Amino acid sequence: MALAAAVHPPHIDETIAELKVLFGDRLSTAAAVREQHGKDISYHEAHLPDAVVFAESTAEVQKVVQICARYRTPIIAFGTGTSLEGHISAPQGGISVDVSRMNQVLQVNEADLDVVVQPGVTRKQLNEYIRATGLFFPIDPGADASIGGMTSTRASGTNAVRYGTMRENVLALQVVTPDGRIMRLGRRARKSAAGYDLVKLFVGSEGTLGIITEITLRLYGIPEAMAAATCAFESLEGAVNTVIQTIQSGVPIARIELLDDIQVDSVNRYSKMSLPVKNTLFLEFHGTEASVKEQAEMVQAIASDNGGGSFAFTTQAEERTRMWQARHDAAWANKALKAGWGMWATDVCVPISRLAECILATKNDIVALDLVAPIVGHVGDGNFHLTIMVDPDDPTCLKRADALNDRMVARALELGGTCTGEHGVGLGKIKYLYAEHGESVSLMRAVKRAIDPDNIMNPGKIFGPLN
Ligand SMILES: Cc1cc2nc3c(=O)[nH]c(=O)nc-3n(C[C@H](O)[C@H](O)[C@H](O)COP(=O)(O)OP(=O)(O)OC[C@H]3O[C@@H](n4cnc5c(N)ncnc54)[C@H](O)[C@@H]3O)c2cc1C
Repeated sequence: MALAAAVHPPHIDETIAELKVLFGDRLSTAAAVREQHGKDISYHEAHLPDAVVFAESTAEVQKVVQICARYRTPIIAFGTGTSLEGHISAPQGGISVDVSRMNQVLQVNEADLDVVVQPGVTRKQLNEYIRATGLFFPIDPGADASIGGMTSTRASGTNAVRYGTMRENVLALQVVTPDGRIMRLGRRARKSAAGYDLVKLFVGSEGTLGIITEITLRLYGIPEAMAAATCAFESLEGAVNTVIQTIQSGVPIARIELLDDIQVDSVNRYSKMSLPVKNTLFLEFHGTEASVKEQAEMVQAIASDNGGGSFAFTTQAEERTRMWQARHDAAWANKALKAGWGMWATDVCVPISRLAECILATKNDIVALDLVAPIVGHVGDGNFHLTIMVDPDDPTCLKRADALNDRMVARALELGGTCTGEHGVGLGKIKYLYAEHGESVSLMRAVKRAIDPDNIMNPGKIFGPLN
């Protein structure tokens, strides 16, 4: 979407002048750099920060925060900028703090299955680094996002059905608070009953409470055996019911992803696949050779009862990687399908027993509103996404997309679900936060005010204006 008119905080010139002395060339006010740090791929109006600082240590982040705090200048943390709800936009201007150069893996504790990383480490970089240990980090949003950004949006991905989300996998944090203090939250111990859980408060706080400068994560052993498969269904309902029954029967499936027929067509074209153009599940099983076989047989039986075809298996690592890369590239496939169109990515999550109702009614809405909106999802968690394609030459298209999103979120809330399972609130889902949480939003706002009384950390996000 277009750039919005710039807004400058009152003391931005003094803030930039002081930061320039410390950071020299690592502070940029160039339009292209500011645009890269204020504009995501979403349909949200982009507001650019006044300057971007490339921090290389916790001490440098602390300096930036102390200077900004003195001038009450907004600070927006930046990892890789792949968030989807206007999270990195700077509606009140201010300083974008890019932590991508803080990209060291600091400690691998093999015996304890954990790792300490700086926030700019990306998920792929981490897995590459620890590969020789026989351990892996499972959380895999489609983009190669930073661990700091993933922590801040409480991200998940295709493995969450088995391994959980960032909520379950962050053990401890180091943060710089809005008053410029460095704090450690949490410990490496697997459990603790000592006081309020500040780690979980910061996980998903979208940069509104402070800047994360170190993250301690859980790791897992690479399973002895892994097998992936695709399974095509005659109906969307059959595919979704297979997911529901698989989860309800307690099969410890590692990945179970839905792509509707429109999404399969788009993936085929973009990733040079030749899947039957039908509603399809992408599945993966982890365990011993015997347990993988047993799990696959159980799910195949459930799928057959629901109109699914025979599993097309991939056991070779290279083929599996190709299949999952195609799944991760689904959004780019949709963008390529409608060249020049905008892309509105949105997600909801419902209790598993309500998933079929939610997806089928949403599919009907897509047809009724005459929109192109492929459905894809981490359905084992009850989570699914739409990438609603927005035709810039059709003035009604954005309105229809908005209506579709409204209906989908209202339905998810009615069914006991949430307005976002993993993308977060940013700017795009503020209005739904109140519908979802009601009075308890006032408690969230009180926490925000207590930690960041001057509202300098990513202001305008999650709640909108705070007064
Ligand atoms: C193609 C594609 C597929 C995607 N698939 C998924 C998916 O499957 N699952 C999923 O969950 N998401 C998905 N996403 C969204 C995105 O990848 C995640 O939201 C990711 O967690 C963002 O990480 P980032 O490093 O890009 O963060 P950024 O976009 O840079 O920042 C995100 C937010 O976190 C804050 N932040 C960043 N770093 C820090 C820090 N160190 N301290 C404090 N705050 C910080 C920012 O201020 C901002 O509010 C997808 C995005 C794309 C483009």
